[in-house]
Amino acid sequence: MPKVDMKEIKFPPRRNTRSVWVGRVEIGASAPISIQSMLSVPLTSLDSAIAQARALGEAGCDIIRVAVPDKRSVPFLREFRQAVDLPLVADIHFDYRLAIASAEAGVDKLRVNPGNIGSRDKVAAVAEAAASFNIPIRIGVNAGSLPPDLIERPDRAQAMLVAALREIEAVESTGFSNLVVSLKSHDVPTTILANRMFSRVSDIPLHLGVTEAGSVESGSIKNALGIGALILDGIGDTVRVSLTGDPIEEVTAARGILRACGRYSKGIEIISCPTCGRTKVDVASVVREIERRLRFCDKPLKVAVMGCEVNGPGEAREADIGFAGTADGFVVFERGKIRPPKIPSKDAIESIVAIVEEAASIIDNRKIEP
Ligand code: SF4
Repeated sequence: MPKVDMKEIKFPPRRNTRSVWVGRVEIGASAPISIQSMLSVPLTSLDSAIAQARALGEAGCDIIRVAVPDKRSVPFLREFRQAVDLPLVADIHFDYRLAIASAEAGVDKLRVNPGNIGSRDKVAAVAEAAASFNIPIRIGVNAGSLPPDLIERPDRAQAMLVAALREIEAVESTGFSNLVVSLKSHDVPTTILANRMFSRVSDIPLHLGVTEAGSVESGSIKNALGIGALILDGIGDTVRVSLTGDPIEEVTAARGILRACGRYSKGIEIISCPTCGRTKVDVASVVREIERRLRFCDKPLKVAVMGCEVNGPGEAREADIGFAGTADGFVVFERGKIRPPKIPSKDAIESIVAIVEEAASIIDNRKIEP
């Protein structure tokens, strides 16, 4: 067998960045990679906005972004701030006064694009407001909205890097350095390259995401590839999976991506077989339903659902709790040992959910790593 030098084949360590606080959540340095999402309803529909924010928090969202498109939204932002205790980011374009008003309304971070805020005086006024409220600014560079002199450059990733460095310079020249940066494209390779380049030249924490990624299905794949590749490279401090759909799906996808990269220990990890001609139970329906019912559970548990007794018991033993299908139901495994009784097929979903919830209920919250 050829000799493989295992020392050379490993993932790079996480990039060392400066630390930035968004309310109670730290971004960068050695802080856990946080999950963000954005409200899909306007602040002016206040009750719906509050309900969506609370649902996002329950789903595992750490930081919530809200669009503040006009002056009319600002009083709603104030009320929203009072009702929602998650860290909030105000998303501002064009009008620097909205950024200042949002800081005054109590948000925990501003997301701006200095390129469309205007003159240096206006950028300086936003930085001054952020400094006085001790909140960071995220500079968001999108491949789709580059400055005119960069838009035609054939190397999009490099153009995004130049735009980001230019905008950082505009803000840092005011003496403000409490920054997070994002470089997003709808194109996965461009997103990966732009973030890799940026990580070599700056210690500013990176907010990752593939933007305008599409529907829940296709967008989740693009984000898994883009965010996942970077996280495994040690790059990235906070993530937002951008999907056309319910923002709860963004949080679910982000948790799944981070978990698959080994950077998120909370929640149920479901291991299930692809099924084949030996399958004797409806694994697909069982997995779909238990995944849906257990998706907000924060306790770290590996749950295996296998279709038969050939490979099933072996895989099921690897998990905290396993279920292997037979002709008349599921054999249950708990930490490698068969736990009678067998579950009849007709009770499979209810029984599996109940067994997993019981196992989750005895896990001590204090022992869960972030
Ligand atoms: S666990 Fe059994 S049913 Fe599932 S794919 Fe393997 S052999 Fe087929």
